[in-house]
Amino acid sequence: MLALAAAQLGYRTHIYTPVTLSVAADVAARHTQAAWDDEPRLAAFAADCDIVTFEFENVPVDTVRFLSGHVAVHPGAGALDVAQDRLAEKRFIAELGGRTAPYAAAPDRAALTMALTAIGTPAILKTVRMGYDGKGQARVTSPADADADAAWDAIGGHHAVLEGLVAFAAEFSVILVRGIDGELRFWDSPHNIHADGILSSSALPPPRIVTAQQDAARSIAAAIANALDYIGVLTCEFFASEDGPMLNEIAPRVHNSGHWTIEGAVTSQFENHIRAIAGLPLGDTATRALPVTMRNLIGADIGAIPVLLADGAAHVHHYGKADVRAGRKLGHVTWVGCTPQ
Ligand code: AMP
Repeated sequence: MLALAAAQLGYRTHIYTPVTLSVAADVAARHTQAAWDDEPRLAAFAADCDIVTFEFENVPVDTVRFLSGHVAVHPGAGALDVAQDRLAEKRFIAELGGRTAPYAAAPDRAALTMALTAIGTPAILKTVRMGYDGKGQARVTSPADADADAAWDAIGGHHAVLEGLVAFAAEFSVILVRGIDGELRFWDSPHNIHADGILSSSALPPPRIVTAQQDAARSIAAAIANALDYIGVLTCEFFASEDGPMLNEIAPRVHNSGHWTIEGAVTSQFENHIRAIAGLPLGDTATRALPVTMRNLIGADIGAIPVLLADGAAHVHHYGKADVRAGRKLGHVTWVGCTPQ
């Protein structure tokens, strides 16, 4: 979707990926398939590019640092560094005055017992690194050793953080773009519904509690973007709780909860990300019409495409991924200015 937005603005895209089946490569001018630490291939890639960006937060920081020595990379390695480590991320948010779920570090099984005493249950155990879409997470329902053992095994016994389960009223995201000159623009915050830790839908308008907390959430998201001297689209995922917005996660990239902006906003998150990193003026982020609903097509949901195509109001996106698996995001569909049938 970034490559398509870049093409619209007259840019040709070169995709660097370690995977053999890259749907981004299918719509790009050039493609390098190589490991993240293959320095000769990275150097050749950098020499072929004017600007490099990324849309996956688990690109190794060392890869981005290496590329930064050869070519402009936006956003920078600093944003990735913070977002890849849940503990560093929480400390960074707190330093800027933001709130997170109560948490305690659990670097090993013994520390998990202490963390359970400090945080209580129910709680969620999350790996500090490499988690997304609910992966690397396990719920702990009671402080009993058997429950703690099961959660510890479920996340593979990696360095983890234990978070108190937040009794949130709703989940929402702040999606912003920050230009090369520091200008900030925000899209309207959608209401996000997750199932099994995976985003299932994003919709506007959100419930009143989200609208009421949007400004406070934007302030902390803006402080994060400014502190990182961030260029491009940044997403912050929040819980709307009785005590105000709590920041769950920072994604230094365009985000699934912003896919609705393709048809639902004057300028999409993808186009504004390209504009920002290319140093172009930013586009208008206003919502075109309400209501907006974006639904993910996950696993077998992709079978609904013939029916969705028969709905003239549905904007259907099929990613064309070759490896169709349960739990995998394979497409999405958006309705703007009408309610899905
Ligand atoms: P994450 O991978 O951290 O974004 O978590 C995925 C989803 O799990 C979130 O969007 C929430 O629906 C749920 N979740 C994660 N952490 C918590 C928490 N501390 N309290 C309640 N729900 C959570």
